[in-house]
Amino acid sequence: MEASSPLPSLRGVRDLLDSGEGTSVGIVNEALERADALDEALGAFTGMRAEGALEDAAAADARRAAGRTLSPLDGVPVAIKDNMVMEGEPTSCASRILEGFVSPYTSTVVERLRSRGAVIVGRTNLDEFAMGSSTEHSCFRPTSNPWDLDRAPGGSSGGSAVAVASRIVPAALGSDTGGSIRQPASHCGVVGMKPTYGRVSRWGLVAFASSLDQIGVFTRDAGDAALLLEAIAGHDPADSTSLREPVPRFSEELTGDISDLVIGLPREYFLDEGVDPGVLAAVRDGVSVLERAGAKVREVSLPHTRFAVATYYLIATAEASSNLARYDGVRYGRRAASATDLSQMYFLSRSEGFGEEVKRRIMLGTYVLSAGYYDAYYRKAQQVRALVLDDFQKAFDECDVIATPTCPETAFRLGEKTGDPLSMYLGDIYTVSANLAGIPGISVPCGMAGGLPAGLQLLGGPLQEATLLRAADVFQRLTSHHTAVPTAI
Ligand code: GLN
Repeated sequence: MEASSPLPSLRGVRDLLDSGEGTSVGIVNEALERADALDEALGAFTGMRAEGALEDAAAADARRAAGRTLSPLDGVPVAIKDNMVMEGEPTSCASRILEGFVSPYTSTVVERLRSRGAVIVGRTNLDEFAMGSSTEHSCFRPTSNPWDLDRAPGGSSGGSAVAVASRIVPAALGSDTGGSIRQPASHCGVVGMKPTYGRVSRWGLVAFASSLDQIGVFTRDAGDAALLLEAIAGHDPADSTSLREPVPRFSEELTGDISDLVIGLPREYFLDEGVDPGVLAAVRDGVSVLERAGAKVREVSLPHTRFAVATYYLIATAEASSNLARYDGVRYGRRAASATDLSQMYFLSRSEGFGEEVKRRIMLGTYVLSAGYYDAYYRKAQQVRALVLDDFQKAFDECDVIATPTCPETAFRLGEKTGDPLSMYLGDIYTVSANLAGIPGISVPCGMAGGLPAGLQLLGGPLQEATLLRAADVFQRLTSHHTAVPTAI
């Protein structure tokens, strides 16, 4: 299928630009051509920004010629998940309800990327409003996994994972509410990192579940993830939950040394049942690489793990039902044409505008918040959330980094789980706890199981992104899993 050339990594592109071997216009053109050649098969993008991107690239080339390069990202093409707004550009959230919506303002992450010279080339496909684990719940089309086009890439940031795995762009942004960066990264064989809650501003990220949502990065390796994360992280007065903490130069903390680290393996995540044995073997091999590099390994316990999925789906749906109340056909997006009075306009606009999974979440969330059920479900879930956080605090007294599988299995077939939401939800078992606790996590390719990529997840205490990136970088210096090129494109 390949009719275009794969793009290098982020630092690869930077090196081409620095040495004068490439220009930003040339590289952005290659990204656009590659998207053109591959995206009919992949469905990774909801829209390209060709003209604006080429203008930005020309400006980057002019800066460079004048010796005024803004950052290592200057002139580098980046894709954003289509739930982050940019002034004058459409934002769809892969929902019919946002049909025709053009944003009047720009998200902080896009603002920061552009102020460092990064070139936004397009918007990537997702599950509607980021609700899902497969990118099949998109109003446009499902995204295909570049390792096997009949399989899902994971989700909800499936388009961003596929755009990076397919070498269309070296880097992309995603959002992670319960695993939506780490899980598709695992299924597509790339690096995906969700930072600490509040590390990156959510201003201009369309809200799904505000106490869990966090923006993060997709790249091919930890070194690139460090560069991208340091560009977007940091306090933002426009987001009251963003942390007032200094942002380390993550890229300068990749020392190659992890002999000071203790890696904890949570007993509850390594039970032989419910996990693909091939995935488990790849993850165990991954842990032994870290051990050979000098880290100490010990067992820890996260006893409330078995309640995590239920807790997550109570809190996430409750917040979603509240956040999505704003789509009423009045201010943005779709308004039902046939309505004859106000309540019918709300009813029809929402009925026509939202897809099946979003409606399911709104109903679940409204139910758990309703009088008589609030205490039994929502309040109980908040109590369990505190216990999950407590589990992590205790575990991090005994170790620096927790290593787990990112997902219990490799990429599943398109259509395999859409009729069985519960089995789709259960696949989030290893990722949701980090969101409930607000801690950072990264997924790193750790080998293949049955011809498909598997991911090793590393979790850290609050604000420990630098430690996670350092461990992931050591892992990638000693392994080559991340260099494997998807076989179906
Ligand atoms: N798969 C999870 C869900 O469906 C997580 C989604 C996300 O992180 N946006 O809610």
